[in-house]
Amino acid sequence: MNKSSSTPGELPGLAADSLRATSAPVSSIPARPRVKPVDRSQLTWQMLDVERLVEAEHPARAIWELVGRLDLKGFYAPIEAVEGGAGRTPWDPRLLVSLWIYAYSRGISSGREIARRCTYEPAFQWLCGLGEINHHTLSDFRVDHDASLREIFVQVLGVLSSEGLVSLERVMHDGTKIKACAGSDSFRREERLKEHLEAARKQVETMGDPRQEEAAGKRAARQRALRERQQRLEQALEEVEQVRQAKQADKEQTRASQSDPEARIMKQSDGGYAPSYNVQLSTEASNRVIVGVEVSQCGSDYGQLIGAVAQVEENLGRKPAQVVVDGGFTSRENILAMAEQGVDFIGSLPAANPSSANQQRRRGVSEEFFLDKFSYDAQQDIYRCPAGESLGAKGREFGPGVVVHKYVAQAAVCAACQFRSECCPGNQHQGRSVVRTVLAPEVRQFAEKMQTATAKAIYRQRGAVAEFPNAWIKDKLGLKQFRLRGLIKVRLEILWAALTYNIQQWIRLSWRPALANN
Ligand code: SF4
Repeated sequence: MNKSSSTPGELPGLAADSLRATSAPVSSIPARPRVKPVDRSQLTWQMLDVERLVEAEHPARAIWELVGRLDLKGFYAPIEAVEGGAGRTPWDPRLLVSLWIYAYSRGISSGREIARRCTYEPAFQWLCGLGEINHHTLSDFRVDHDASLREIFVQVLGVLSSEGLVSLERVMHDGTKIKACAGSDSFRREERLKEHLEAARKQVETMGDPRQEEAAGKRAARQRALRERQQRLEQALEEVEQVRQAKQADKEQTRASQSDPEARIMKQSDGGYAPSYNVQLSTEASNRVIVGVEVSQCGSDYGQLIGAVAQVEENLGRKPAQVVVDGGFTSRENILAMAEQGVDFIGSLPAANPSSANQQRRRGVSEEFFLDKFSYDAQQDIYRCPAGESLGAKGREFGPGVVVHKYVAQAAVCAACQFRSECCPGNQHQGRSVVRTVLAPEVRQFAEKMQTATAKAIYRQRGAVAEFPNAWIKDKLGLKQFRLRGLIKVRLEILWAALTYNIQQWIRLSWRPALANN
């Protein structure tokens, strides 16, 4: 027999005899590490204490508690199922409100994502008691309760106010652009929109009568998408007309988005342009609670302030004592309106003197002939130029909070003047003109007030307070772009976000300290 061959059960080349013959003992061969095997073939039962899924200080508990203190009758009213009666039992609105608030606080704004997390994430599981909620139920609930949602926004303000967390002594108001659920390339001119609408109508017609359909699943979803596309295109054509009238723009240049017809191209804080909505937030200064929220299709902020102050009064039953805004809101119209309402107004009025040094310089006027070198004779109501000639009154223009008086020299006098090329180089057939601006007393008082150290110090606080909720909503709640389309739904989305923000303030300022003291 060949002595080197191994017997069954022995390693090749390491027969028992040869092992015995080596000088190394058997124990010196390294043993394989022993680890616990993974057994995925087993079936097992686990005990789960739902109440202990989240700790006592978890924000989901705070949200559930606060929502439970609110009057949700507006949400319960449409429910047809009654105790003792037949029919499907819907989910409790308290749960659906709590789920959406908690989801927004985690930067989740999708019904599908909430439904998914309800199957595995402890806080969502705790909120819904391990129940499984259909994402359609969640998505429909978010947009179906406009008035009721606004009502609970006001109720939460009431809770914060009753706990001394809201002061209307000073309210900072600001606007921020949030991108719409539409791309810049979705904007089309009227002719192209009509072509797309015609194509969409033909597609919808070929689907047949929707009442006869028994479509299900993907086919039904596709048909619904086609009808929604047709509706959006019809609305886009209406919006084109509105934009044209608002801007008095050229028919050829006016465009609307076929994805979100109510979105408008707006300038962003980074200098770029994108389809957006202009979100307006009023924030009280003591605890940075949002006391008013609105959405506008207008990129400019000037026209938003009066409505914002009215909404704060509607929400809390009184006007703010003081409103602080940036230059985008500081117009003479707003100065007059705030004065009329007895609201102390702090802002930054840009210099709008048409005869400012830069403008005169651009017109080629030498510094020796700037407006300040002309003297006004109030008795005769004339100006005298540096050459001693008179400029007579030539009409007035009335604007909000201002009257602009115009004075003009005689054309023949200026034409013969040796200083013409330095004083009015661009005038070929007219004499030199100057204007005298007379501000309304309220505007003058505002300008004087804004020169004081106190007003300047208050204005410096504006950015930190007013821009805080803007940044929070975009960065913490993740609302840099709307998920929903159209002005009504976008309003609801920002209202959910503002409600979430305020509840988070309540958790931080009231619920957590109370829990720590117990
Ligand atoms: S150009 Fe006319 S306004 Fe100017 S300095 Fe001469 S006269 Fe006076």
